[in-house]
Amino acid sequence: MSTRVIAGDCTVRSGGRRETTRRGRVVVVVKPDDTVLVHDADGYQPVAWLTRPAELTLTTDPLWLVAVDGDESLHVTAEDEVTVAEHETTDAGVPVGECHCGGPLVRAGGAVSCLDCGERFPLPGGASVRESTCDDCGLPRIRVERGETFEVCLDYDCESLLSAVETRFDREWDCPECGGALEILRRGGLIAGCEGYPDCETGFALPDGSVAGDCDCGLPRFETDAGERCLDSGCDA
Ligand SMILES: [Zn+2]
Ligand SMILES: [Zn+2]
Ligand SMILES: [Zn+2]
Ligand SMILES: [Zn+2]
Repeated sequence: MSTRVIAGDCTVRSGGRRETTRRGRVVVVVKPDDTVLVHDADGYQPVAWLTRPAELTLTTDPLWLVAVDGDESLHVTAEDEVTVAEHETTDAGVPVGECHCGGPLVRAGGAVSCLDCGERFPLPGGASVRESTCDDCGLPRIRVERGETFEVCLDYDCESLLSAVETRFDREWDCPECGGALEILRRGGLIAGCEGYPDCETGFALPDGSVAGDCDCGLPRFETDAGERCLDSGCDA
């Protein structure tokens, strides 16, 4: 993902609800999602911007930038020589350890990724990344609650959360509809689904919490951040 930075004497015209024309030595930042920010010397706020415009045209010689989104538009033209540079950028995440390649791992947007090699590891919901590392591959370990607390490798291919939870809870509970066993399966996230599928379609997403006893309906209850609840989120027993 690259971010383009334009610097120099430009005229900036904003069209739409508030039409303005400004000229000055500015820095224009064009993000990978085409968001355009025009900064001058003052304050932290851009003097003009357009967030994720539907259309963006940028030519560099001569400089010509047009961003259009519905009724809003932003035109930037160079009045003198400008510099245009392209920089590789990533999400700025929380540092969580070191990659196989020795590069820094950061956590952002529901995943951990390496700033050097770009490898990306999606995180299960509610997971926290530990300081301890995997004995097999050296990546950080993650801590996840799915009925109880599990600690597994960040890399699903090295050590899967599914098999850890399966080993502990597969066929542990019975289906309230048909009495069959509930199996631990991966359907996006982890679920406890009836062995009778497709005849019985009963299945429950495993909550991010620990088992805290039994519900009157026969299923387990979970202690979660949002309070205690039945495995069946629709249960009123
Ligand atoms: Zn790496
Ligand atoms: Zn590992
Ligand atoms: Zn069933
Ligand atoms: Zn219940």
